[in-house]
Amino acid sequence: MNNYLKEIFNGLKSLVIGLKVTMTTMLTKSTTIEWPREAAPIPERFRGHIMLRKNEETGLSKCIACGSCVRACPSNCIQVKGAKPEGAKKKAPILFQLDFTKCSLCGLCVESCPVDAITFSRNYALAGPSSEPFATMNLLAGLASPFREESNEL
Ligand code: SF4
Ligand code: SF4
Repeated sequence: MNNYLKEIFNGLKSLVIGLKVTMTTMLTKSTTIEWPREAAPIPERFRGHIMLRKNEETGLSKCIACGSCVRACPSNCIQVKGAKPEGAKKKAPILFQLDFTKCSLCGLCVESCPVDAITFSRNYALAGPSSEPFATMNLLAGLASPFREESNEL
């Protein structure tokens, strides 16, 4: 009989201990998020892939296709081709392609730009079934183009 009561007591004791752990966990603020439904907090100095800055008035890229970033990149990630739009004094990019699969996010391209046309994006959610789209990222996509009416979507 004594053993029987002892087993009931031990069972209740472990039940209370288990419930205490459950309640403590339920009341503790979660350290995980429900990504992608929730956005992850990004550190201020986070570096996503490079992107072109936009002239807010014109919607065009600030890039003058000087090639300085291409020469500065130690991994050969950037391809730029430029031309002068009709009537313009400066060149504008007709192609600005990034091979993000080779990029080390070193920032030399950003530092080398004489017109502050490149920065790091805040995009941390790049994923896909193949690396190919990341090897040929069109950084002019979504920007207005001085060469034709429509934007630079490829
Ligand atoms: S961050 Fe560095 S490796 Fe990446 S494109 Fe710029 S210069 Fe090249
Ligand atoms: S250094 Fe700046 S202006 Fe020159 S090609 Fe690169 S992004 Fe364009």
